[in-house]
Amino acid sequence: MKVAKFGGSSVANATQLIKVGNIIKGDPKRKFIVVSAPGKRFSGDVKMTDMLIDLGTAYHNGDAYEAYLAPILERFTEIIEELGITDSVYAEIEHNIKSALAYEGSLESKMDAIKAIGEDSSAKILSAYLNTQDVSASYINPKDAGIIVSDEPGNAQILKESFDKIYSLHEKDGILVIPGFFGYTKEDKLVTFSRGGSDITGSIIAAGVKAEMYENFTDVDSVYTVNPTIVKNPKEITTLTYKEMRELSYAGFSVFHDEALIPAFRERIPVCIKNTNNPEAPGTLIVAEKEANEKCVVGIASDTGFCSLYVSKFLMNREIGFGRKLLSIFEDEGISFEHAPSGIDDMSVIFRDRQFTAEKENTVVNRIKEELHVDTVSIHRDLAVIMVVGEGLVNTIGVAEKATSAFVKANVNIEMINQGSSEVSMMFGIDASDINDAIQALYESFFE
Ligand code: ASP
Repeated sequence: MKVAKFGGSSVANATQLIKVGNIIKGDPKRKFIVVSAPGKRFSGDVKMTDMLIDLGTAYHNGDAYEAYLAPILERFTEIIEELGITDSVYAEIEHNIKSALAYEGSLESKMDAIKAIGEDSSAKILSAYLNTQDVSASYINPKDAGIIVSDEPGNAQILKESFDKIYSLHEKDGILVIPGFFGYTKEDKLVTFSRGGSDITGSIIAAGVKAEMYENFTDVDSVYTVNPTIVKNPKEITTLTYKEMRELSYAGFSVFHDEALIPAFRERIPVCIKNTNNPEAPGTLIVAEKEANEKCVVGIASDTGFCSLYVSKFLMNREIGFGRKLLSIFEDEGISFEHAPSGIDDMSVIFRDRQFTAEKENTVVNRIKEELHVDTVSIHRDLAVIMVVGEGLVNTIGVAEKATSAFVKANVNIEMINQGSSEVSMMFGIDASDINDAIQALYESFFE
């Protein structure tokens, strides 16, 4: 049996939902279906989840929330009418929205209840539609599916006991349509995963039912070797390992939620990324292990919005606990770091810029000066990180040379190099303004 998850663009309107119906009918193994909330129908459109967040915020602030509610109801009406399913689905959705707005509890929990309506409604609509197509399907609430999570609003974590319960979904007949993105605590409180979390639900269900495959339907034919907005028509990746996918999604490959790999990875369930608009395309397969003879570099990820903090202090290498003290300042200030390359008398900490407000910068720099008595401390914002990723990297001679020659060709200065301890990636830090030139040159050198 397979688990098939359909992302926001796959359930954005009736036309897309009809394609989803055909995909489900096309393979009798597709028994467990997970859906997102309706996503963007065109560029500039607003995702249902964002519309719901705006509604919840307006309601909370005492603003005229009806102006936010109306377009939400209109979108659902349009989908329901075009699919020709019964009005009772609409009545149920409307009722759910009203009860979520009236929810009495913390604001965070209330927002979670409101956000979850997008996925919950998609699942109800899809199962009703499948039944009109002579496909026996039922909507399964995540509580009944066995998705038990921690009480961390907007960032739920799955609890271990969920998996056995999920396995018993096999006993149910027909196709089961489960809304993504949320679960319930042991106390029966609805809590959502982080944004994009329907991928996580799909992976949890796949692990729980021990599926032979987790298919993740999105709107691209595959995962590409580089960001297609930088390089035109880049080559597709046919197979990659979980580790490689994790490294790629970390730095800008946003096809798949990075946390979502964990449950599938633990059960070694292959994940296939496929296109709802072109289901015949083979897609990209993510597996635990792959043949060693394949190309050593699978993809090049890049992302901007990084910041580096550099400190130097003479004889740093002899000072026991220096690194810990430096990182504990980051910990106290609630900043998570990404890399920390170091030398004998210096150390850099690289982290996401968005965590570092001017105020934070001030506090961190002052604390470093006062508590660690360093010689210099400097900050570099507008840093881009490029990751050259591939499991074969460790045993292949000349990868760094190939990469650095590409930087030379593009006339891009490398500010930092780090062959991560993972041995799956090589990281380069460059000025963000050079990113397009660098990626273009790296692509030519590794893939053309
Ligand atoms: N609808 C949620 C979001 O926009 C979850 C998802 O689509 O995966 O974040």
